[in-house]
Amino acid sequence: PTPSTIVTRFAPSPNGPLHLGHAWAAIVAHDRARAAGGTFLLRIEDIDGVRSRPELADAFRADLAWLGLAWREVTPQSRRVAAYEAAADALRRAGLLYPCRCTRAEVAAAAKAQGPDGPLYPGTCRLHPVEPGPDVAWRLDMARAMALAGPLDWEDERRGVQRADPALFGDVVLWRKDAPASYHLAATVDDAADGVTVVTRGIDLFRATHVHRLLQALLGLPVPRWHHHPVLVGPDGRKLAKRRDAPGLAERRLAGEDGPALAAALRSGLFDTGICLADAIDLAP
Ligand code: GLU
Repeated sequence: PTPSTIVTRFAPSPNGPLHLGHAWAAIVAHDRARAAGGTFLLRIEDIDGVRSRPELADAFRADLAWLGLAWREVTPQSRRVAAYEAAADALRRAGLLYPCRCTRAEVAAAAKAQGPDGPLYPGTCRLHPVEPGPDVAWRLDMARAMALAGPLDWEDERRGVQRADPALFGDVVLWRKDAPASYHLAATVDDAADGVTVVTRGIDLFRATHVHRLLQALLGLPVPRWHHHPVLVGPDGRKLAKRRDAPGLAERRLAGEDGPALAAALRSGLFDTGICLADAIDLAP
């Protein structure tokens, strides 16, 4: 048999314990690869040194093993900063990034429209350039980037071909003041480096893919397919969050619950009471 080219990944951030929603996401990614004889990767997204707790990554591995999943682990984001820097440098050299000194409060006050990532940036530091320095964020000049790379399409396995519309994010921050690369830059660079061919993640991140598709075009990266899956929501219709709704996987594991039985229940659509799947792109955060 020829080896399958399907490579998927589960990419949790170690800033809180995994819960049932993560188990579901991991199983979707795992099964998508397995069904095709492909490879399922685990990538620890510990880019945010302040919020990341290293001991959680070990708990994540124990949780996945408890569920009966097998994976290959790739380099965690904390050890990939040089690659993100190289990508940011390439965009900067192409004149597509500009330094920004605005605070969150200033952006919120000046912005008229709410974007999926927060208020849309009104372009203050693009219109009135500021000096670069260690304490600036770097934003993508979205209009210029789209003029260079657009129009672009991408394909979701469940929702079909999409025309990339990253403008709805405005001039998104790609390099942060308080941490290295943004989620958008780090995840895009890593998915390419890790050879991911089907990016599986929750439907709540559907719109982020518009930005990722643009970054792939600007950086000359291969273009995968996407599989945005429904996410688990609680009785309030909001995405599951450990604090609000459910005991974490580690808690259940340590209490002696049967992991493979839980995985089997999730696969057959049997969730805990009050929990169900939601498939809306504009899910409340
Ligand atoms: N680290 C991200 C999260 O925990 C991963 C999102 C993605 O799969 O792209 O939500």
